[in-house]
Amino acid sequence: MDKELLAMLVCPLCKGKLKYDREAGELVCRFDGLAYPIRDGIPVMLPEEARAMDVDEKLHDSSGRSGES
Ligand SMILES: [Zn+2]
Repeated sequence: MDKELLAMLVCPLCKGKLKYDREAGELVCRFDGLAYPIRDGIPVMLPEEARAMDVDEKLHDSSGRSGES
């Protein structure tokens, strides 16, 4: 996974930064609790393809949820 490519990728939903989970081969948005798959080295940045993570998998960071206005 190219680090420069990774740095360019953002979540299509919240435009937040993604975390690369090397073991799972996924790009994780902790804000949405979604994990985007990487297929053949290519990140699939489609919300409908993303996996909804279990609560236990989510990082305990809920401080970014207040921006509703
Ligand atoms: Zn997101």
